[in-house]
Amino acid sequence: MKINWLNEVEKRKDQLINETQEFLRINSVLDESTASAGQPFGKGIANALQHMLTEGEDRGFSVKNLDGYAGYVEHGSGKESVGILCHLDVVPAGTGWTSPPFAAEIREEKLFARGAIDNKGPTMAAFFALALVKELNVELSKRVRIIFGTDEESNWRCVEHYFEHEEMPTIGFAPDADFPIIHAEKGIMDVELKFSEKDSDGEVKLETFKSGERLNMVPESAEVKLKGNEEHLASIIASFSAFLEEKTFEGSFDHTKETLVLSILGKSAHGSTPERGINASLYLAEFLHSLQLTKLPAFISLLGEKCQGDFYGQTLGINVEDEVSGPLTVNVGKVSYKRGSSAGVGLNIRYPVTADGDKIIHALKQAASDNQAEIKVIDHMTPSYVEGDHPLIKTLQGVYERQTGEKAGLLAIGGGTYARSLDVGVAFGPMFPGREDVAHQKDEYILIDDLIKAAAIYAEAIYELAK
Ligand SMILES: [Zn+2]
Repeated sequence: MKINWLNEVEKRKDQLINETQEFLRINSVLDESTASAGQPFGKGIANALQHMLTEGEDRGFSVKNLDGYAGYVEHGSGKESVGILCHLDVVPAGTGWTSPPFAAEIREEKLFARGAIDNKGPTMAAFFALALVKELNVELSKRVRIIFGTDEESNWRCVEHYFEHEEMPTIGFAPDADFPIIHAEKGIMDVELKFSEKDSDGEVKLETFKSGERLNMVPESAEVKLKGNEEHLASIIASFSAFLEEKTFEGSFDHTKETLVLSILGKSAHGSTPERGINASLYLAEFLHSLQLTKLPAFISLLGEKCQGDFYGQTLGINVEDEVSGPLTVNVGKVSYKRGSSAGVGLNIRYPVTADGDKIIHALKQAASDNQAEIKVIDHMTPSYVEGDHPLIKTLQGVYERQTGEKAGLLAIGGGTYARSLDVGVAFGPMFPGREDVAHQKDEYILIDDLIKAAAIYAEAIYELAK
């Protein structure tokens, strides 16, 4: 069967835009204050879910609401299934919008709204694509199911609940990241190092060390408080000024009789790319270490001497690398210390798709005990990887290349996309290469043209995967 998918979507363009606008006008931010049985994430999300299920019923799909945690619309028949995993919750709107965030206004061929690109616009594109496949009476040998998650932006409780009750699709994709295809996502581990020794006891004492709020971000600032006599503190101030000048960092100090507070401003970056940031905590530790004060807590030399400049885990003995996804990365995301209690250092580790997470944990335990510390794994997501010659990949590549005329290269990332909830799944769109990333920003938008193109790509993908 030869169908010009883009033409078919173009013919229905106004309908697609109107329906997307209508969907975007539902404020679907997590709201625990209106949560109740059947709507665990609040009224707005429940309304958005109900909206899609009603639309699905109107189109003659079979639909199901899973206790308000998730839902699906399904078309076709067969034992195997193709899953398209979307989410309809959005992050809070924030401030500074040109038009109200839930007005879904169109200006200069862009549709502006919270959720326009992440992920309600693409959700509608996929839904519209399935509706088109049905309308054109294309014969399918597999079931196609669009799964609506509702808690992607917070805790993924939606997919957890969903897969407790429903089958795993045979293959699938999530339209919640980038085109062409993300087929490899590193394993992600949050760990905490707890140091056993408690006190800083030299002539100059380290009172506190504070840096970082989230493990998956490079800390932008770090602050320490020191106690000592005036003479010592004055010489530390002189060294600190020289240190800042040498590194060309911003920083400040605040000196009162016996205490000195030093702070450094680095540069934030995502935890998956620590080399792109300037980790303020490591530089401040480096400075403290360079003072050669007696009896500083051990974490200072570990961070300031050994971990400084090591983005790949050599210090911890966990450096591994593979061809598909590159090296393991370590981000020191959080450091907290208060004299009299043990120091805590939080790490966000991203390891290559072919590496073994358990081995890494084992090596970390060893490294921790070598440094009089203990390690606790707070969170661990294993890698997600579909090999390049898998039929799912080959099919999606063909679709993308036919629709866009561009080569469909494969991407490997250190971040985590929704696709990793699927056993055999990849992230497929909706952001075309070179587009500015406006997800989670004010004035979030989707280009009308991209919405249309995405719908055509998803329609052909559904057909090719399920025919
Ligand atoms: Zn998303």
